[in-house]
Amino acid sequence: MKSAMSTLHTPEQTAETSPPASADTSAKIELVGLSRDELAAELTAIGEKPFRAKQLWHWIYHQGERDFSRMTTISKAMHGALAEKFTVGRPGIAREQTSEDTSRKWLFRLDDGNEVETVFIPEEDRGAVCISSQVGCSLTCTFCHTGTMKLVRNLTAGEIVGQFMAARDSYGEWPSPTGDRLLSNIVMMGMGEPLLNYEAVAKALRIIMDGEGIALSKRRITLSTSGVVPLMDRCGEELGVNLAVSLHAVSDELRDVLVPINKKHPLKELLAACRRYPSANNARRITFEYVMLKGVNDSEADARELLRLVKGIPVKFNLIPFNPWPGSAYECSNAKDMKKFAAILNDGGFSAPIRVPRGRDILAACGQLKSASERDVAALREAARARKAEQANTTPERTTTE
Ligand code: SF4
Repeated sequence: MKSAMSTLHTPEQTAETSPPASADTSAKIELVGLSRDELAAELTAIGEKPFRAKQLWHWIYHQGERDFSRMTTISKAMHGALAEKFTVGRPGIAREQTSEDTSRKWLFRLDDGNEVETVFIPEEDRGAVCISSQVGCSLTCTFCHTGTMKLVRNLTAGEIVGQFMAARDSYGEWPSPTGDRLLSNIVMMGMGEPLLNYEAVAKALRIIMDGEGIALSKRRITLSTSGVVPLMDRCGEELGVNLAVSLHAVSDELRDVLVPINKKHPLKELLAACRRYPSANNARRITFEYVMLKGVNDSEADARELLRLVKGIPVKFNLIPFNPWPGSAYECSNAKDMKKFAAILNDGGFSAPIRVPRGRDILAACGQLKSASERDVAALREAARARKAEQANTTPERTTTE
């Protein structure tokens, strides 16, 4: 759940950039996103020894190198063969914006022209990259801007890994640091529901976690789901990453409206899946995301019911002040109510920070992500409607005589 550029505010740093110049790559095989076995198979197919895959893996994912001729441990003869057949790419950057609060957002234009957004939210000496898993989303959560888009398609593993690699390009964070990192965490919380694109997401995260490449620990990766219950167990068993759940309501009646997948997998099922999530324990608590909607889900009774529901689950809460977007039907809870809500959860023994909104000026905050092209179409429609209304108002005689 997230998104793009505000028409209300021009951020102080906006860079229009294009993908790095390269030779015609249309016929070439993209190496980013291939598993180690697939990479070895590609090398075998051009007559190279499979062990070369280890070297190439190091250059691609540890060094971040895209130019075969600079891969110095690989023979010059092989450079040419690789460049002829393969490419090491990134999603093209259609727009890069940096917020007043230093959050950074990229609008990536994919090879087929579709667009997705990625956000980096820096803290003092670290930060989380919020990555998209789908173009659009099929789940229509009513508080979420992305939910107003239709699902266009799933992203490939290469496009998912590529978002993180492009973000690291932007900060020059190559080779992969062995100590502290600026881009230290990943949250699969951008556009789309990651568990509805599980195979590609799992493949991408395995690449990202591989110790000889990007080497980001599973403890630094959080996958956020709106409640695709049948895949939650698999995610925990196979990937062992942290889990976040978009909860947002304490009754099925309300959750059916806010997060419509609840009709298929109601609260009882969802909470049972959380109770048995393999890697959840007191050191690695499940995060329950709870967007604060004025007069909708923010009462003291809601907070108390929340405490009752999560009994026995190692959880922490993340209270998200609602970030309005054009056309949204909700308002953000007022500060007093949010504090009261948080205090009840705190008194119940849970951590429940109220998230400080980041990147609001570039519509990069939670629940605001949506592709620029969609917004452009919406803006054009709005302009056409305004023109029609203006014509109707300025030509009353015609409308009455017709
Ligand atoms: S909150 Fe997540 S799952 Fe729901 S519509 Fe938005 S992107 Fe999709």
